[in-house]
Amino acid sequence: MTIPAIEVRNLAKSFANVTVLQDINLEVAQGEVACLIGPSGSGKSTLLRCIALLEEHTQGTINIEGQALGFFENAKGVRERLPASSIREVRSQIGMVFQQFNLWPHMTALGNVSEALKTVDGMKKAEAEERAMIQLKKVGLEHRAGHYPSQLSGGQQQRVAIARALARQPKIMLFDEATSALDPELTGEVLNVMRSLAEEGMTMVVVTHEIGFAASVANQINFLDHGKLLFKGPPAEVFQKPRHPRLEQFLDTYL
Ligand code: ADP
Ligand code: MG
Repeated sequence: MTIPAIEVRNLAKSFANVTVLQDINLEVAQGEVACLIGPSGSGKSTLLRCIALLEEHTQGTINIEGQALGFFENAKGVRERLPASSIREVRSQIGMVFQQFNLWPHMTALGNVSEALKTVDGMKKAEAEERAMIQLKKVGLEHRAGHYPSQLSGGQQQRVAIARALARQPKIMLFDEATSALDPELTGEVLNVMRSLAEEGMTMVVVTHEIGFAASVANQINFLDHGKLLFKGPPAEVFQKPRHPRLEQFLDTYL
């Protein structure tokens, strides 16, 4: 049996006493694209942030290629926190792209993509910039390497942010509404980059309201509602009519 790239079991997450995710089970195989859809406030970002270890989940387990993330249950069934070193190691396998591009305004595209390679991964400047250029080329922006974020369109900035995440050579990429802050005419160029990443076999979890993208790229659609995964399945099954009434209502409201 092959080990899934991501395996989430019985995950729950609370903030203070408020439960925002419960009984979440998600399995993403190597090279699969899982889309997370659902109304605003349903817990999509929180789930991604738990997988990226930006939030600590309250219950359950997250395994990345069989390695526990953050917490694990010991032989006695008691929850234990993993040591910081192992958290860093698992964390380094995951790249994340946010709705806001979060680029450093005082650095060029090349600087944004190469910075962590130097400061976190300890690469020499020349090697880091060489690696960064490969990634900028991949997102179609090698001719913009010397531009600052303010000189780039939103779509270009988001592609730099994707290149920055890819430069660390993650095994898994998480996208949280990566096109929601963009003007409609700029979403296509970002979705195309995401589509080609998927075609190359990157394992991805994608929160998106782009139903056309989800229907054509995802291997599995997961519908979150009020902190629970209400249903999941391949796009052909989930989007086929008659649809689940909550999905129908979501599509009416959000699209
Ligand atoms: P979505 O991404 O689907 O819109 P979120 O994951 O952002 O949903 O939020 C799910 C719920 O968790 C919301 O009710 C939100 O208010 C709550 N929430 C998210 N982050 C925090 C936080 N840091 N503290 C308290 N509540 C939070
Ligand atoms: Mg969100």
